[in-house]
Amino acid sequence: MIVLEGCYVATADAAGTEYASGHLAFDAGRITAVGAGPAPDLPGAERIDGRGLLVTPGLVNVHHHLYQWITRGYAIDGTLFEWLTTLYPVWARLDADLVHDSAAANLAWMALTGCTTSTDHHYVFPDRGGDLLEAEITAAQEVGLRFHPTRGSMNLGQSAGGLPPDSVVEDHDAILAATEAAIARWHDPSPEAMVRIAVAPCSPFSVTAELMRDSAALARRAGVRMHTHLAETLDEEEFCRATFGATPVEYAEDLGWLGDDVWLAHCVHLSDAAIARFAATGTGVAHCPTSNARLGSGIARMRDLLDAGVPVGLGVDGSASNESGRMVDELHQALLAARFRGGPLALTARESLRAATAGGARCLGRDAELGTLEVGKLADVAVWRVDGLAGSGIADPVCTLVFGAPTLAHLFVGGNEVVRDGELRTADAESLAAAAGRAAARIAACSAS
Ligand SMILES: [Zn+2]
Repeated sequence: MIVLEGCYVATADAAGTEYASGHLAFDAGRITAVGAGPAPDLPGAERIDGRGLLVTPGLVNVHHHLYQWITRGYAIDGTLFEWLTTLYPVWARLDADLVHDSAAANLAWMALTGCTTSTDHHYVFPDRGGDLLEAEITAAQEVGLRFHPTRGSMNLGQSAGGLPPDSVVEDHDAILAATEAAIARWHDPSPEAMVRIAVAPCSPFSVTAELMRDSAALARRAGVRMHTHLAETLDEEEFCRATFGATPVEYAEDLGWLGDDVWLAHCVHLSDAAIARFAATGTGVAHCPTSNARLGSGIARMRDLLDAGVPVGLGVDGSASNESGRMVDELHQALLAARFRGGPLALTARESLRAATAGGARCLGRDAELGTLEVGKLADVAVWRVDGLAGSGIADPVCTLVFGAPTLAHLFVGGNEVVRDGELRTADAESLAAAAGRAAARIAACSAS
């Protein structure tokens, strides 16, 4: 049992409950007490002095591509389509060792920036690459994060009018068989699950309509969630209008891809009608403000999405379009992006925190057990240092978290210590960085040859 006390507690619950000097206790993986003042007497508990600390729910990252950690820094001044066509041939060289080393380093970085649950949209499965899903799930188990990888896919290669080269696409039936096998092997529906699988064809310009439809049917049969990229750029909108005679959202709805079991990455270019359909169907949005800015894709309509009641979570997106990849930075970026678009009242600091926690949990279908600090919920907790040079003199610790530069003090996942005193405790960060460096050199050398 661990007790934090004397800390500022931001529960991120629906009422926005906060305690200026409060406590949080957890035991056997679940939160057992949260409130104002000192903790109740709990014999045998380890007590952590919370002075100078802010306690929040662990951050939930709802869109990522972990394999991209070893391909950072490519096509830094290109459009999305230029960036993709530069990187597809590099990614065609992925194998299980590369994916493991990339994912382990990337997930360690996610942990050190406040993330307790991450998804991963993996959609590149080259021939003879080995078991890439197993490689990244192993990495997540080593680092100790709660993990929602997806079995992604691409089957629309260049020869069939798609964007990716034929060498990185798979056959329709092979994709569905591998997806079904991944769910059977890894998906854990229990409330305490550390691993859950979702079904995630890559995007409208890399997947056939038939695969989108069949993937949705498979996911719903198996009772797992669905994820894809949608409405990220104007190039995509033009592609969909020219190819399907529909906007990306109209196309998705026609294929069965709206619903409360679906969350979609980006959704930058949405009409009012599209937002209304998202709200009516309960479709979630993974807002990735840094990546959207890096690729110049535009600014998602976060204010309008929230006002309509659409579930919105935050994502770092793949590291090749967000080289810093710090989860906590997305709170700041979401706020800046919303205000660039809609003025000073477009988003509050608390709304940004809530999107990164409760909103993300809702996108992943885990709002009953994750995303807020409430008794009975899983003990996924981020503890931030808000004193020192970064925060001293700022009266509101949530302001330091969202506008400032807090450092992570501790991170717990299901009550297990992953970060303590700013250091990763589950693995050696330097070894992970060295392995990722070697992997980056190997994939670069492969693709140059
Ligand atoms: Zn993405």
